[in-house]
Amino acid sequence: MTIIQLTARQIEITRIVKENGPITGEDIAQQLNLSRSALRADLTILVMAGLIDAKPRVGYYYVGDNSRNLLAQKVSNMKVSDYKSVPIVVKEEASVYDTIVRLFIEDVGSLFIVSDGGILQGAVSRKDLLKVTLGQGDIHNMPVNVVMTRMPNIIMTTLEESVYDAAKKIIEHQVDALPVVRPCEVEGPNYGKPEVVGRFTKTNITRIFLELVEGV
Ligand code: ADP
Repeated sequence: MTIIQLTARQIEITRIVKENGPITGEDIAQQLNLSRSALRADLTILVMAGLIDAKPRVGYYYVGDNSRNLLAQKVSNMKVSDYKSVPIVVKEEASVYDTIVRLFIEDVGSLFIVSDGGILQGAVSRKDLLKVTLGQGDIHNMPVNVVMTRMPNIIMTTLEESVYDAAKKIIEHQVDALPVVRPCEVEGPNYGKPEVVGRFTKTNITRIFLELVEGV
């Protein structure tokens, strides 16, 4: 993807084509009090940038919105499964102390709390853990499930969800990370419950942003 810095005149031409198109090069030149040949280079750049296009004997017409549509379509086709990070989970019986140690070891900002079989029970952020260390409780003997945000209040994503929808959830619910879940397939009491298979975070979104800009 190329990023083009448009000149004031090119922006003006784009506006004229958007409002009056299809419009001939002659008419654009007339509106700007310029000669047709003085405009040639600008028109070529705008066509190459995909902002306008030309049809023989019809003139120039505006297509600029297509580039945004293309981006939206591209992001909607990007699935969480291709951009997620590995799941970092802690058992619900783990102590607050051990959970804090885990946060440092894994170098993450939040952890997901699971029961046997990797079934999602809750989430803790670094602020949840900071808050409890300010209290009087014994963090060595306090299980993390006392301080976690618990199901059914956890905002989740799935492998098939688009990164666009997942990013919207992160912004709307003001959280840093979403657990990626799928229905547990093991027969028994856990069947159909949300099993944690990954995490999708603001870092993943930042990486996607760079990928879109750099076009790698
Ligand atoms: P921080 O607390 O460091 O700002 P977050 O914004 O991620 O980090 O968390 C804010 C609150 O939301 C915390 O109390 C946390 O337990 C909770 N939380 C974290 N992730 C989720 C999630 N996916 N769904 C629901 N609540 C969450």
